[in-house]
Amino acid sequence: MEVKVANKIVDLSKMDDKQKQSLFKEWHKKDGLRTNVECLCDKTKNVHPRMSVRKIRNHYYIANLPSSHIEHETYCFYDKKYREGVKKKGITIKDDGSIEVSKLDTSKKHTNSGIGKKNPISRNHSYYEDDPLCTCRLSSLFLTMLQKCNWHQYKPHGQRNLSKRLYRTGHETTVQGVTLNYNNLLVAKRKKQFVSEQHFVVGWGNIHDEVLPSTLDFKIKIPLYSVEDSCELITYIEVERNVYEEAKIVAEKIRNNVAQGFWIIWREPHKTQRGKRVMATRYISFIPAEQKTKIPVESLHEKDMVDYLVEEERHFKKPLIGDIKEEHGIKIRPDIILYDTPKVTMVEVAGVNTEKYLSHLSKKKEIYLQENYLYLEWLAMNGEPLPPLPSKQ
Ligand SMILES: [Zn+2]
Repeated sequence: MEVKVANKIVDLSKMDDKQKQSLFKEWHKKDGLRTNVECLCDKTKNVHPRMSVRKIRNHYYIANLPSSHIEHETYCFYDKKYREGVKKKGITIKDDGSIEVSKLDTSKKHTNSGIGKKNPISRNHSYYEDDPLCTCRLSSLFLTMLQKCNWHQYKPHGQRNLSKRLYRTGHETTVQGVTLNYNNLLVAKRKKQFVSEQHFVVGWGNIHDEVLPSTLDFKIKIPLYSVEDSCELITYIEVERNVYEEAKIVAEKIRNNVAQGFWIIWREPHKTQRGKRVMATRYISFIPAEQKTKIPVESLHEKDMVDYLVEEERHFKKPLIGDIKEEHGIKIRPDIILYDTPKVTMVEVAGVNTEKYLSHLSKKKEIYLQENYLYLEWLAMNGEPLPPLPSKQ
């Protein structure tokens, strides 16, 4: 995120925690600077939301100034409505911008009847239909982390480097009391990486990849490829077979023919009968994504649209979680937002031909136009070719 302080623009996303702490400390010391931080999430505006530097114990952070009534951009991490939206998925974004999940389990009755016995399909059935990528709380968490590090934004010739961004975000993420620092997060990126006792493991893969047998009957090994270079096999991770199989069934239902994507795996320490501490797999989720940009997509058509925008060197965002607004029960989350047009353009990729879907789509269009956005629609389900793009600003 970019902020403006004393007429200087600072890109905080390019800094690690240590750099940010020393900068915030400096601002905090100078009275004028402390309350004069502006969030530049929406550069089309002349005035920006005001923020201030705060200090709790020895930790400095920036937070919304209560007196500021200027709204953040819809998908800014500091936007109140956005925070309320992800809260509904069990993800808390705290005042300092850090992420917290108190419980990954979404089943109503909490039982300790053993690892991996719960069925993720029945457990999550209620909400993955209208939000296909959020198949479990773990997927919602991962999508929120991707949005926090701005991974869903694509700028032509911009730097990508997902592992670096995820590790930085992990430092500001706590799941069931575990902070996802280097000890607890593993992002597959280079050879000889060692899977030891990390709780959260992220790698690239293909849903059809062949798994290997393990010496233990109830386990299998999933190949994990680098998130930076999807051709490079990094390691095999041993997981419980039943958890993997359940994840695969869910993935087959939602992935809509996109075979590539992220494997995300959550593990917890567990004592064997002989008293040995092992990491047991609790949740696995497969998140389909476009291969070049590694941006999650909900369908093959969305993947084609992302490919097309990259080829045309356009600046866009692919909202992953959280809605712009909810009106008359309609959740409004555009498939893609184009930023390099004279006015911001909302892009919808229509993949279904039912009456209900089309009426929903036309209501969305109405709302976008009312809100003064440009609108682009691709009726992909009719076999239409990709539409010409609105010209750049
Ligand atoms: Zn903002």
